Amino acid sequence: MEPFKVYSLFDITPVRAKGCYLWDEKGTCYLDLYGGHAVISIGHSHPHYITKLTDQLNKIGFYSNSVKNPLQYEMAEKLGKLSGMEDYQLFLINSGAEANENAIKLASFVTGRSEILSFSKCFHGRTSGAVAVTDIPKIIAPINRTANAILSPFNDLKAAEEKLKTKKFAAVIIEGIQGVGGIHIPEPSFLEGLGELCKKYGTFLIMDEVQSGYGRSGKFFGFQHSKVKPDLITTAKGMADGFPMGSLLIHPDIQPWSGMLGTTFGGNYLACAAAIAVLDVMKDENLIENAKIMGDFLLEKLKEFPQIKEVRGKGLMIGIEFDKPMKAIREKLLYEEHIFTGAAGPNILRLLPPLILNKEQALFFIEKFSKVINECY
Ligand code: PLP
Repeated sequence: MEPFKVYSLFDITPVRAKGCYLWDEKGTCYLDLYGGHAVISIGHSHPHYITKLTDQLNKIGFYSNSVKNPLQYEMAEKLGKLSGMEDYQLFLINSGAEANENAIKLASFVTGRSEILSFSKCFHGRTSGAVAVTDIPKIIAPINRTANAILSPFNDLKAAEEKLKTKKFAAVIIEGIQGVGGIHIPEPSFLEGLGELCKKYGTFLIMDEVQSGYGRSGKFFGFQHSKVKPDLITTAKGMADGFPMGSLLIHPDIQPWSGMLGTTFGGNYLACAAAIAVLDVMKDENLIENAKIMGDFLLEKLKEFPQIKEVRGKGLMIGIEFDKPMKAIREKLLYEEHIFTGAAGPNILRLLPPLILNKEQALFFIEKFSKVINECY
């Protein structure tokens, strides 16, 4: 048997990783400015993370959600404190798509409505509800196509109100910062306006913080650059530094009923141990602050390159847009300079490094980027 070939692969096999670095089987060292797609938040193989997971594995790794798991309470308390959302309730699952799927379902249960509004260029995952509200027709299978998923132009409040005033919408879903779509930041006034419209028309506001959350933008959540108060918040990528985990933060006014949501693996002991380790390190090492400082530094340096069409981002979620395909730049960075970066479509290079990135590493990237860009342009 072989893996189903849905990914285009780099010809590199990492076998070891530490902090912001990866090593392949030949011993070549790579600087990681991609974080395994925004997943590695506290750096690879952090000692506290290793200790927490190893200790937990030696005690109990898994039991179902039919018993009391104190780690879920510890994790919820720490997440509430660090994110400033202490009064919210927490539902744990295993991935970003699953988090959004549950958010959509919860909104529909509570409002009794079936339509969901999302925005141009959005990405919310690949499960049926999440993909239905995603703006990438190619990945929506016929069974996932539904008239209940409606798209509206990004940052256009008037257009959103036209739809929401029908009072048919269970929820509006929007990313804290659009990732896959190319690092597009919602205007704070747009988010705040959406929050007001949602209240006015009885619709839930879901903030998808799967990529932009967990300190990446220089605040715990991307939406915290505005004053909006969402009904539901979804997280995943950075929350357990690579251990599969997702979560749904639920406004205190929303009441659960037994059996409303459920999962086999979500919130298991190992996942919670990983998530607690991440929250501990984020707090102890001031990683949210570091993401802001290093992000501001990188954005300022990148703005000096005349070859770049536009640089967008907040914290360590940065998009570098060119007016032509950047494949050659990305490949040179990887194969010649040994730096991992991400992409968003053919023209946008995406930086999603671990939140522990330091100035020396950022400067190293700028120096190599400058070399590569001069060779390519
Ligand atoms: N939402 C956003 C904003 C994402 O960026 C992603 C993944 O890239 C998802 C949801 C889906 O997450 P997962 O791949 O964990 O299902």
